[in-house]
Amino acid sequence: MSQPVRHEFQAEVRQLLDLMVHSLYSDKDIFLRELISNASDAIDKLRFESLTSEGLAAAEPQIRLEPDAEKRTLAIADTGIGMTREEVVANIGTIAKSGTKEFLKSLRDAPKGEALPPELIGQFGVGFYAAFMVADRIELVTRKAGATTATRWESTGDGAYTVEDGERPEVGTTITLHLKPADPEHGLRDYTSDAVVDDIVKKYSDFVAYPIVRRLGSSADGSSGASPGRSDKTLNSMKAIWDRPKAEVSDAEYKEFYRHLTHDWTDPLRTIPVKMEGTIEAYALLYLPEKAPFDLYSPEMKRGVQLYVKRVFVMDECKELMPPHLRWVKGVVDAHDLSLNVSREILQKDRQIQVIKKQLVKKVLGTLEEMKRDAADDYLKFWAGFGPALKEGLVAYDVQDKDKLLDLVIAPSTRDPNGKLVSLDDYVGRMKEGQEAIYFLTGPSKDAVAKSPLLEAVVAKGYEVLLFSDPIDELWLERAPRYKDKPLQSIGKGDVALGTAEERKQAESAIEEKSRELSDLLTCLRVHLQEDVKEVRLSNRLTSSAACLVADEHDLSPRVQRMLEQLGQPAPKSKPILELNPAHALIPKLQVVFAEDSSDVRLALYARLLLGQAHLADSGHLPDPDAFGKALADLMIRAV
Ligand code: ADP
Repeated sequence: MSQPVRHEFQAEVRQLLDLMVHSLYSDKDIFLRELISNASDAIDKLRFESLTSEGLAAAEPQIRLEPDAEKRTLAIADTGIGMTREEVVANIGTIAKSGTKEFLKSLRDAPKGEALPPELIGQFGVGFYAAFMVADRIELVTRKAGATTATRWESTGDGAYTVEDGERPEVGTTITLHLKPADPEHGLRDYTSDAVVDDIVKKYSDFVAYPIVRRLGSSADGSSGASPGRSDKTLNSMKAIWDRPKAEVSDAEYKEFYRHLTHDWTDPLRTIPVKMEGTIEAYALLYLPEKAPFDLYSPEMKRGVQLYVKRVFVMDECKELMPPHLRWVKGVVDAHDLSLNVSREILQKDRQIQVIKKQLVKKVLGTLEEMKRDAADDYLKFWAGFGPALKEGLVAYDVQDKDKLLDLVIAPSTRDPNGKLVSLDDYVGRMKEGQEAIYFLTGPSKDAVAKSPLLEAVVAKGYEVLLFSDPIDELWLERAPRYKDKPLQSIGKGDVALGTAEERKQAESAIEEKSRELSDLLTCLRVHLQEDVKEVRLSNRLTSSAACLVADEHDLSPRVQRMLEQLGQPAPKSKPILELNPAHALIPKLQVVFAEDSSDVRLALYARLLLGQAHLADSGHLPDPDAFGKALADLMIRAV
């Protein structure tokens, strides 16, 4: 027998344990749900392994609960896959999830003494560690399938744990909780009571696919409900919730299953049962969460859909069933005609999977459309959390139902920037007569876009402009999408033709005339800025600001260029165009300076400031703050 080896918990685990032990939610019962869920996962894994690899036999699946009032313990034993010693150390001692640090920090910064908002910690999934809410010492003995030896782990939850060789006659895992004294006032019930244990299982784990059993008469009040001739009682009904008719399943059951799947303690926004019959037979149960997980944009985010074949678990995170922009959809899919031996490679090409995926995408988008139409408040919640992820679908070329995705887009508009978000359909329905395009503007923040000088003339002429400020907006709008045959046109790019043909002609000739008049000045300014801009020209976009930046018709906007660079992708470099407002008081004054002495040094300084100002209005960001600062100081000295 080896000596116990002491290990320190990873810092993040220590913080999490501290939160578990000290603050926390009133509903401590959920620890059992977490442990049962882990046990059920472990049985899933062993069943699957034994179907697909030689020489591994799965024992009769079972999760056994053993409350012991005398010892004040509750044991949870499963016939699952078990863990090797290395796996114990890696799984029960570290948290591998990305973003853990940031997440725990946000929890630590939460007001002290208050119960933590369950949805915060729920979306993180504390799993095993929740047991430290009810136990002050935990033992875990586990034997991995295929191994002959077992491992024993023990901890009091205060920073360290020990690992040593253990004894376990069969494959699987037993977790023994040494319970804290019951304290009903603080939500700590007596978990050695049969009635309490039965109640929790019924409430949280009824649909678990394997029998959860308890020996009759094993505990404090064990005499209740004894049926003669049998010594075990099965506590759950084991009905797979997804192939039961919708009318038979209660809302509460659907929600409980969602919690079982996701560990998210916030109710889902929508539950979508799906039944496919005919050439392809499949059941699915999908959920649209209310809150985005904190790692939605991390490549390691846990994808949400599990694959079953005839109620046998096949794989977690089946990304072949949901496109990336719907990666946040949770649920299970049970495909009846698939082989249990499917590999990821086969799945990618499997025609059945393609058909099922198509149906699921349709269902999800349909549900969203309905929500948008009939439950605006829910839709806003959804959009705040998942809108940017959904819009990723508009960037990819071969995306199913792209038009439906466009239908789902909402954005603030110049009509009322802080008011109701506007859909493309709303927009098109009230376009001005003769208006041919859907106007939009993108920028780094809602505020920056709403205040952009580029809006001045367009809004003054009575046009509505949609305001986009998610980073992804730059990318999908760059693809020149159309909606209901109308192009979406950036008012920050190329020329924007406003008004009737007659008005346009007039405006154009006015600008042309002005440009001829000021052409030498414009050339002079361009020469001073030739490193930074492609052109300096007069604009009819502005009414009150002096200058703005626009991109040439076919160039990428400066923000897209920056984004692509950050993503490590090649971005064709192109310079912006600086547009000046001929109606601004500054322009005639500059013309006077220029007419007196075309080599006046102030012209270079003014050019620099105009460019800086335009950059600030565009992105709140100066590409060369140093040059801007010097020019400003120099001009001040001259003016004082
Ligand atoms: P999560 O379940 O969210 O992954 P946990 O902290 O609950 O987080 O568990 C961490 C890991 O430990 C699990 O992913 C699994 O690999 C392993 N584990 C936990 N309980 C068991 C068990 N009963 N049998 C086998 N492995 C387990």
